Order: sequence, then C-alpha cells, then structure tokens
Amino acid sequence: MKTDVKALVVGGGAIGTSIAYHLARAGWSDVMLLERDELTSGSTWHAAGLLPLFNMSYAVSHIHDYSVRFYKTLEEETGLNAGFYVVGNLRMAQTDARMDEYRLYASTAETVGIHYEWMTPDEIRARWPLVRTEDLKGAIYHPEDGYINPADVTQAMAKGARQRGVTIERKWQVDGYAWRGDHWQVTCTRMAEKGGNLVPTDEQAVVRAEHVVTATGNHAPRTARLLGIRMPAIPVEHQYIVTEPDPALVEWRKSNPEHPVLRDADAKWYVREERGGWILGPYERGAPARFEYGVPDSFRADLFPLDLERIEEEYMSMIHRIPSSETVGLKDDYNGPICYTPDGNPLVGPAPGLRNMWLAEGFSFGITAAGGTGKYLADLMVEGEAEIDMASLDPRRYGDWMTTEYAARKNEEAYEHVYILHHPDEERPACRPLRTAPCYDRLKARGAQFGQVNGWERPNYFGPVDAPDSFDHDARSFRRGGWWHYAVEEAKAIREGVGLIDATAFAKQRVYGPGATAFLDRMTCNRLPKVGRINLTYALTAQGTTRTEYTIVRLAEDEYYLVSAGGWQAYDHDYLMQASQDWCAARPADWVVVQDVTTQWGVFAVAGPKSRNLLRDVVRDADPATALGNKRFPWLSMRNIELGMCPVRAIRVAYTGELGWELHHPVEMQNYLFDLLEGAGEKHGLRLVGARAQNWLRQEKSYRAFGHELGRDATPLEADLPRFVDMSKDFRGKQAMEATGIRSKCVTVLIDGPPDADPWGREALYAGNERVGRLTSGGYSVAFGKSIGMGYVGPEHAVPGTKLKVKMLDALWDAEVQPDSPYDPENARIRQDG
Ligand SMILES: Cc1cc2nc3c(=O)[nH]c(=O)nc-3n(C[C@H](O)[C@H](O)[C@H](O)COP(=O)(O)OP(=O)(O)OC[C@H]3O[C@@H](n4cnc5c(N)ncnc54)[C@H](O)[C@@H]3O)c2cc1C
Repeated sequence: MKTDVKALVVGGGAIGTSIAYHLARAGWSDVMLLERDELTSGSTWHAAGLLPLFNMSYAVSHIHDYSVRFYKTLEEETGLNAGFYVVGNLRMAQTDARMDEYRLYASTAETVGIHYEWMTPDEIRARWPLVRTEDLKGAIYHPEDGYINPADVTQAMAKGARQRGVTIERKWQVDGYAWRGDHWQVTCTRMAEKGGNLVPTDEQAVVRAEHVVTATGNHAPRTARLLGIRMPAIPVEHQYIVTEPDPALVEWRKSNPEHPVLRDADAKWYVREERGGWILGPYERGAPARFEYGVPDSFRADLFPLDLERIEEEYMSMIHRIPSSETVGLKDDYNGPICYTPDGNPLVGPAPGLRNMWLAEGFSFGITAAGGTGKYLADLMVEGEAEIDMASLDPRRYGDWMTTEYAARKNEEAYEHVYILHHPDEERPACRPLRTAPCYDRLKARGAQFGQVNGWERPNYFGPVDAPDSFDHDARSFRRGGWWHYAVEEAKAIREGVGLIDATAFAKQRVYGPGATAFLDRMTCNRLPKVGRINLTYALTAQGTTRTEYTIVRLAEDEYYLVSAGGWQAYDHDYLMQASQDWCAARPADWVVVQDVTTQWGVFAVAGPKSRNLLRDVVRDADPATALGNKRFPWLSMRNIELGMCPVRAIRVAYTGELGWELHHPVEMQNYLFDLLEGAGEKHGLRLVGARAQNWLRQEKSYRAFGHELGRDATPLEADLPRFVDMSKDFRGKQAMEATGIRSKCVTVLIDGPPDADPWGREALYAGNERVGRLTSGGYSVAFGKSIGMGYVGPEHAVPGTKLKVKMLDALWDAEVQPDSPYDPENARIRQDG
C-alpha cells in the first residue's frame, strides 16, 4: 500500500469512489482510496438506484443534474455498463398545493436547465393505463431521469478512477487521524474475514496524506469522534419492498416500454418496475435513527428486519394508485440504514476547525448525488472554489451547539419530511425550542411565530396572541400564506412608525491585537472604518467571490467587532480563526485574536421614523435631546450609550432602510431592555416585527443578503457593490475578482405578479422568451404595493428600465429592473436628523 499521497479518500461507496475519480480527473495524480470492506458494501449496495432530478435546492439540483449527465458517459469511458435505465420520472399531485409546489420547482429547474413536462390526469391514464388517475390534479414529468444500478455505477467510477491513476485498497480501515502541520498522518488497520465478521488484524500502516476526504456513510459518527468534531450525519432506517410479478404489468409490457419511476408524493412513496413486479419505497412516519454512536462490528452489508406495519398506509395507497398490485405477493424486502442530516442536505466541504480535511458525509440520495458531489468537491479542493455556491452544503452550517440527540431526532424528521409539501415558508417542529434569546417567552406571549436559524428561535412574524399551535402550519402556502398580512402590517409599521426586531441570532466576533488592523485590511475588500465608525465589507474567496459579508465596527485602534448573518456563525468563525492562525504564524509580533462573542450579546434593531423619539425617551445622557441627533450620533457610527440601566453598544444602521439603531446589549440584560423599550414604545406605537417583513423591506433598498445575492458564485462587483470595494488597496481575492470580470449582475426588480402570490427568490427571469437569469430573493413591497425581487441577469439586461419577465406559477409576469435602492435612493430617511 502507498504510504505517501496527495489525497486520501476514506470510504468506497458511491460517494468516495466518485470523489477519487474526479480528483484524478481534475489533475491530482496521487490519489488513494481506502475501504474497510468491499467497494459498495455500505449503504450503496442496497440502494434502489433512483436518480431524482427534482430538488428544491439550487445547489443540489446542479449536483443531481451533473450526476445524471455524467453517468451516461461512464460506459464509453470505462467499457462498464453502469446499468442506467432512462425511463423517466413522473411526480403526481393529488392537490392544488402540490401542483403549486411543482410549479415553483419547475421555475428553479429552468434556472438549472433541467427539462420537464406537464401532464394532465387524462394524459397519464392514456399513456400508463395501470395507474389510477381520477383523484389526481396532474403531474410533472422528467423524461431524462430514471434509475441506475448503484453497485454497477460505483464499479464503473472505480474503474475510471483506476484508469486515471487512483489506487484503491480494500480491507483497510482508517482508525486515526493526526495533523502534522502540513499533512495528515492516517493510521490504518488491515481488516480480515473471521466467521462472517470483519475484524481488525494486527497489521497496521501509516499513510501520509496532504489532503483527506472522508466519505464513510453510516460510519460518520465514528469518523467525527476520530476527528474530534461534531457531525450531524446519523442514519435512519429506510425500507423498500419488491413484489412478485404483476400479471397486468407483465401483459402490458409485452407491447409497451417500462413505466417511469412513479412518485405519489402526497402518499409518500415512489414505485418502479422490477422484473415484472413493483418496487415500493415509502417515506413513512416513525422510521428510527440508528447507529448514533457507531456501527456495530457485526453489521456489514446487513439489513434490519422489515417493519411492514410501519409502511402499511403507504402500501395501501400503492394498491389504490395501481389497482393491479393488490393481488400480488411480496418477493423481497430491504430495510437499510440511510444517512441523513437535520436539513436533509449532505455535508460537503471543509471539516470545522481542521485543515485539508474534507467531509462528504450524510447522503440520503447518495447515488443521485455521487457524480455531482465528486465533481464539485474536487473543484473545491483543486481549484479552491466550485462554479456553484457550495455554502448550503458546507459542514460548518452546524455549530458546536449541535448534539447527537438533536441530530438523531432532526434526521428522523428530515426522513419523514421527504415527501411533505416543501413550502418555502416551512418551519420544522422537532427539537424546538433549543437556542433561545432571553426575550423568547416575552415574544411568544406577544404572538411571535418563530423560525429556526442555526438552532436559534427567531420571530418570522407576529400573529394573534391566542393562536392555536397549528396556526403557522396552517398559514403556509406557495402563494401568500395566512401570515402575509401580518408581515405587511409590520413592514408598514417600520416605514411609517417604529418597529423592534429581535436580531440576537447575528454572528458576532471580536477581533483584536496589534495585527488586527493589518489582518482585517488584508482579509476584507472595503476600507476599514475609523474608530467609532462602521463599514460594510466582504471577505472574498481565493476566486474573488463573496465568502462572507461583515458589518465591521471599529471599537478602538486595534479592536473590531464583526457582525454577520446568524445562520453562518461557525462558518464565519472557523474561517477567521484559521486565517488569523496563518497570519500569526507568519508575523508573530503582529498577533491577532479572533473571539466568537455571539452568545454574549443580544441585539434589538429599532427602526422607523419614530425610532429616535422612542430611544430619546429612555437614553440616559447629559443632554438626551442631542444624544441621538446626527451631530453626536451620525449615520454609520457606533456609540456606547445607556438606555435606562442597560449599557448598549448602539450602531446606527438599519437593514430595513429607515432611520434606526441596532442595540447590542449584554445578553443577561435583555429582558430588562425589552421591557424598557416596550413600555416607552407604547406612546410611539412600537410594533414587534419579524424576519419576513424585514426581508421584504431590505429588498426595497436593494440590500443584498448573504446566501441569496451574496455567495461564492459571484464577486462583490457582480453583486454590483463597487462602493464597498476599495480598489486602491490590496486584499485577498482581488486579482481573481478583477480577472473574473462581470459575468452577470445583481438587479432589483418590481413585478406585476399574480394577485395572490409573490416570488420566493428561486424563479427564472426572462427577456422575451429567452431565459436570462434567476431571482435570488423575492417578496412583497409595501412601498410600491407590488411584488419585488432581487436576482442576477447578464449585464446587458441589468440596466434600469429593462423590461423582464418572472416565471411564477407557470406563467410569465412583467417585471422591470429598478435603479439600485428603489425606495429612498438618496438615503434621506436613514440620515434624517432630529
Ligand atoms: C433502502 C435504501 C434505498 C435507497 N435508495 C436510494 C435511491 O434510490 N437513490 C439514491 O440516490 N440513494 C438511495 N439510498 C441512499 C444511498 O444508499 C446512500 O445515500 C449512498 O449509498 C451513500 O453512499 P456513501 O458512499 O456516502 O456511503 P456508503 O455506501 O455507506 O459507503 C461508505 C463506505 O465507507 C466505508 N468506511 C466507513 N468507515 C471507514 C473507515 N474508517 N475506513 C475505511 N472505510 C470506511 C464503509 O465500509 C462503506 O463502504 C437508499 C438507501 C437505502 C437504505
């Protein structure tokens, strides 16, 4: 076995094999894959092999699309038939809401270039008469997907990898990882068969690897322990059953091609043909998590016993949909571990806190995702960035607060939710509340309906105070949901009066030390603020795209306070930590410390034309009348003030585009401050406001949001933010940003949309009949009384006044590109004195 390699891939399932293949294809000549047993002996061998293109996530849709295209090329390259059956995929809808879901998905699919067709119940019945259709509303059909033999496609990728120089060693288990400053020292044990079990032998080897990728499937909890990190990849039981041949199907097939993969999402199952019979794969309620603390040695390519009772409902609904299956007996069953993560997306990217350690874990659609994951992870490792933004899959989207119990319960929920309606305004109930700001109970008592961001409870909107528990669930829709008019009133309150937003979930870091200024100057693209002032700035990737957006507050000559999006606390901290360690290693005298202070500070944003009046009533100052005026407290500055008895780091910014302040306060004083503001706010008409209204308001100001307009697939110049990029200084990613040029540009559009719906920020943009871009945000504008969105189009379509169309609910709606900040373009309201 080789003992010195550029990259070591651990795990020989579909995922690891694809990564090894793609690393070699991307030009790394010295790649080795270690598998503790046989290739495909993990979950891969018993997968049903379906390749669903349908996915509501833009990044995952790209990954699946690549896989489907890539698998079709494998036979030509390797001579091995990957067993790809392009039979199509028919997703049926029993309800209007489900059709709305497909319409929203279809618009996203267009932005990725995925082909689909609509079918009516009559068309389905005419083509596939064994399928009962009278209770269907319609279906979406993907002619290009189908299913594949998971073992065959893995072996084909393995052969392709070997042909490209990859070494594959079986029966070697990785048992230890140690970072040695510039490489990993990986300890491996030779495994052997003993009485049907796989047992470690005394033979050990140590491999020196510059990079390591773990793709260990159901063994992820053990991998996490070996690496000393947290990883919420825990498997859940998943079963499918195979029936005896169905005589009606056998007869029909004599003169007809195979059925597409049938999906009755409302009944929570997929069905496909298998040797004259049917495979039924349900996503039932109550499937338990398994192997939270590791896979037992005795479990190899094993299965759990079938639990027929658990899938009875789905079984009966298959019989309803395909009546001929009623009299057909069961031939086979599979109940295997399928890895999940709390949000259902895999963990792909750098391991938290570690260098040159890459994770590819937690795959529930690993056969579908293997091709694309291999390609985009290899891009990330070899080129430094992938052409799609991989942030939504980044393992650091989960922080240190995440535990085994949380992951297991959330993964069970993610499994059960595979076929629920994927409302964009969905919030999932398991493991909540968990991370709460002190004011949580107060907000709840005032009608807050919470969403969960990085584990934090954050109000989405304030509904009725006596709302039943089901209120938010019942308020969800693909159109304007039951919550919509609450958000409208909240948005109006900020435009016309004053509102208070709990923004405690913001990620916050303190950066200080003699090297802090030079370090941050190098790491971010905007000029650093003077002491007491703030700036908006961006950290770029090596490719010049946006890695993180920070509001930087300069507290002192060598001390800064960085605020970034709440969902990205670990992602942002990990990055700054590693960068600061590199900085200190190169310049020990100019040391810098990065400290995550997120949980020390609560944040209330108070915004609206009456916000100054409200704060003036509670500020303690020698001259309260001027304490918050422009002279003593100008826009984009920070001051330490006292509100009643609470010391507050007040920052004069407002993400809503109105006069306003962010009040960063010691978290233990939050309830005191809340009561103070609420009491004083009564006479000013203070209204509590949630994240949904805030999201709409920021679009009226063209404020870009990280994870939407800002991400690793566009530079700040493409985001059209040149005013936040100081080209006179040197900063990380500058040359790459300049070399990239402007491939597409961020725009704000006002939309004459349907009377009952707004865009969600996933829709395709058209100029005439040509697709020219996509939305990345969407909502409703109270200032303009119509739908609003932000997105990316080619630079030629980004000129204000350009007429575009937005694809919503399967129709094209007029939209017009606005000048930046259509609401209050001069910022007169934000700068307002008083
Ligand atoms: C019943 C069922 C049906 C499914 N149907 C589908 C489907 O239709 N479509 C689809 O896309 N997905 C499906 N899946 C999911 C799919 O099987 C998985 O997502 C996929 O196989 C994951 O591949 P992987 O490479 O990540 O993991 P695995 O296939 O589990 O591979 C991980 C490998 O790592 C090895 N390993 C672990 N630890 C070490 C170590 N320390 N050293 C060396 N080697 C190690 C293991 O031995 C294993 O071979 C299904 C799953 C189940 C259970």
